[in-house]
Amino acid sequence: MGFFEKIRDLRNQITEVENTIYTNKQDFLEIYERNLHLEKEISARTKELDIANQRMLTLQHIWDMMNSSTPLSNVLDAIVKTLQGELGYLHSAILQMKQDDDGTYVKIVTQPQDALTEKVDSILKDSIGLFRLAYDANGILAQSLSDKNIKQTVDLRALLREVAPNLTEDLIRKLLANTQIHSIIIMPLRTMDVDFGWLVVFSSRDVAEEAEVDFLKLFAKQIELAITIADLFQAVKNQAVTDSLTTLYNRRYFEEFLTKEVIRAQRMNQPFTLIALDLDYLKQINDKYGHAYGDLAIKAVAGVLKKNARSIDIAARMGGEEFNVLLPGIDSKGGLIAAERIRSAIADCKLEQIGQITASIGVATFCEHSSKIDELLEIADQAMYAAKRNGRNQVQIAQPITEGSWQEVAMNAFIEILSGKKLPIPKELSKSLCEKLSTSKIGGASTPNEIVYSIADILATTYNPLHGEEITKSKVQLSTRLAKLFDLPPEEVDKLRIATLLYDIGNLMLPQKLLQKAGPLTENEKTEIKKHPVIAAREILKPISEIQDIIPIIEHHHENWDGSGYPGNVSGEQIPIASQIILITDAYFALIEPRAYRQALTPQEALNVIKEDSNKKWNPSLVNEFVTLVETDLK
Ligand code: GH3
Ligand code: MG
Repeated sequence: MGFFEKIRDLRNQITEVENTIYTNKQDFLEIYERNLHLEKEISARTKELDIANQRMLTLQHIWDMMNSSTPLSNVLDAIVKTLQGELGYLHSAILQMKQDDDGTYVKIVTQPQDALTEKVDSILKDSIGLFRLAYDANGILAQSLSDKNIKQTVDLRALLREVAPNLTEDLIRKLLANTQIHSIIIMPLRTMDVDFGWLVVFSSRDVAEEAEVDFLKLFAKQIELAITIADLFQAVKNQAVTDSLTTLYNRRYFEEFLTKEVIRAQRMNQPFTLIALDLDYLKQINDKYGHAYGDLAIKAVAGVLKKNARSIDIAARMGGEEFNVLLPGIDSKGGLIAAERIRSAIADCKLEQIGQITASIGVATFCEHSSKIDELLEIADQAMYAAKRNGRNQVQIAQPITEGSWQEVAMNAFIEILSGKKLPIPKELSKSLCEKLSTSKIGGASTPNEIVYSIADILATTYNPLHGEEITKSKVQLSTRLAKLFDLPPEEVDKLRIATLLYDIGNLMLPQKLLQKAGPLTENEKTEIKKHPVIAAREILKPISEIQDIIPIIEHHHENWDGSGYPGNVSGEQIPIASQIILITDAYFALIEPRAYRQALTPQEALNVIKEDSNKKWNPSLVNEFVTLVETDLK
């Protein structure tokens, strides 16, 4: 091979090597790129897995809550909060389709209190949760239900128009200003094949992708399940006929049985006897040995009742420490014997720690004492209270009441309670109250409600030395007018009128010194004053059955809208509307009266003070109505 050929050959070899290197480099680059791509893919999948894991955990948490005895509202709350928190939605809410005499409407059942709700509430000057939203049969909500399918929209304005057609353009503009909402997802909710409502989710992202929608559907399923479980649970509870502590029959069953027994007794022309029994001094047992021993005493009574009952007798725990026994075919003579046997068997119980327990018993017989069932229950209770007043651990037979003697019964009940045996009230006051009651003529009053109202009126003006008759009258008038503005039915207005007279009756049991104290109260004194609504309701009014419905109103007349009042545990709409009305009326009249530690405010000043606490102490719509009402009067 010549020199030049060698060179060519070498060059060829070099080119070949170069080519190989180039190809390898290409391969390498390709591999490198592929790896890079794979790495990205893995990281994306890991993220997805993380999210999926997170979602599974969330679902598991909700599932756990549903399996426990957590109330439905808390479960739903947790679900919507999770949607917002972990899944980054701006807002979410559960809406329910509801029906009443005025037709179909939409109500928000659950929504977290967040920046958006606060903004909406402040623009609307009321809590959106209280609104009755419109249901449009052709709207997007209705469509999602009829299609049984998720709907997505970017048109917030249209949705607003649909549920609140009466909003002014100005308000709508304010509501839509500066919102970050890009899309709204609406999921239909159905429970046991019935339309329930919707889960509505407000997202800052554009229309959701398939995976997100799939996940939201899972959430909607959880909500449906939670509601179904709660409904079933309630249904089972409603069907229960026994009381869990004592396994005696419960009140519901007793009342059902009693209704049937009346018909049977009338048809067979046979008597039956009612025994009303109340454990003596249970509060002391609870206080001294603890609630568990109180329960033990209750169970002991239940044991005696079961042991003494014939197979056809119905022994029931009516609630708390009150028991009733129905003895079919037994007249008052037999009833008294049975009651006495029960009384002595209870007194013979020697309980661990507690020792002896006793009970007071009232006996009333159909038709001997009354042929009206409500009246029979009432006089059996009255007889039981008479047994208490006489010293407890005894049986009393009912006093038959004649037509129209309601007035006397109610009056006597009050007199007996007030006469000092049960209430630690000053002797002078109780004497003057009793005298006033026994000498007053209640002209014209005939229904129990009217009678109780008249009695309450006498009481209120006597026991409340701070108020003149005029103020009391104005209070009742104002609260009644407010109630009518809130569409309270007439029977509720009746209760409110009586409650307005009686809500402070618990003050009877507070030392006069405390009530009239100038200057701030100590913590102990405050606690004592806070007890009074409960004391009033339970101790004084409990023995008078006509007044039972009024007790919850009085018990809650110091609850604040935001839950900061007392006895506590309720807020917002859970507070009876009548209690809310009493609180605001009471506050207003207190403000316009002078106190030892401040001067009286003018009506306008008082209204301003009230307005300041709107949404805190009071329901904002109540404040609006109240202010308008008083201002109209002032003009
Ligand atoms: P009296 O002799 O006048 O009946 O006095 P008392 O203390 O038994 O009656 P009162 O009606 O004033 O109080 C009843 C108490 O019973 C108040 C309540 O806390 C308690 N109580 C109600 N239900 C239960 C219960 O299921 N278990 C326990 N341990 N206590 C209960
Ligand atoms: Mg008792």
